[in-house]
Amino acid sequence: MADLKLVPISYASEQQVLVDKFNALPFKSKTGSFWKNTHKGEYASVKEAIKKHYLQAQNYTCPYCKQRIVVEHLGTWDAEHVIAKDENPQFMFESQNLCVSCKDCNGSKSNKEVLSRPSRTRRKFPTDPDEYKFCHPHFHDYEQHIRIVEVAGFYMPLTEKGIALIEICGLLRFVLKCGGYESVDNSVGKLIVQLGNKLMETQSPAEQVYLMTLIGSVVERGLKSAALAGLEGLTA
Ligand SMILES: [Zn+2]
Repeated sequence: MADLKLVPISYASEQQVLVDKFNALPFKSKTGSFWKNTHKGEYASVKEAIKKHYLQAQNYTCPYCKQRIVVEHLGTWDAEHVIAKDENPQFMFESQNLCVSCKDCNGSKSNKEVLSRPSRTRRKFPTDPDEYKFCHPHFHDYEQHIRIVEVAGFYMPLTEKGIALIEICGLLRFVLKCGGYESVDNSVGKLIVQLGNKLMETQSPAEQVYLMTLIGSVVERGLKSAALAGLEGLTA
């Protein structure tokens, strides 16, 4: 199914009052730790509304790895701040800064920078897609930036923003799992991304086959040395 535009949450009036209350705090009083107030107390209803809304709007699908996890229990999902709440708490309840994500993507993404030109004192929420260095759940069409090769558990980046998304959200963990790696080896992951890039660039069918085979060997057997040798061969 093609990606439909993600519908941002419209807060119910009683939640909007709380959001407005937070937004009215002096700029410097807003901190990421305020989010702890959503674990219980009056702000808990805001967090619940956010999760429920985006679970439905996203059809139980993580916007980063596209895994569909059909579980109603809200604890399965993380409320996700696209621009990290610790870096820019002023956008904590901004509807287009919110979605739900799987715990692995959220854990990998953590406080990583997603803005091309980060600023902690930014007042206006950036809505221009080009202000983001990765592909944004609300502002970009995922399929234009990443192609998922499901059989290999492989995310093939189509653009720079796609590469950034794979790195920020740790999507290589699927390949690494698939390849039987016990520990995540970043250099192998980066190599796979590089090979994927070359695959998208090349026009030669012979080279495409070669690259697919190479990616396959990295994915299936985790032969880092073989892949490195292969890459050398390709660029020689
Ligand atoms: Zn995910």
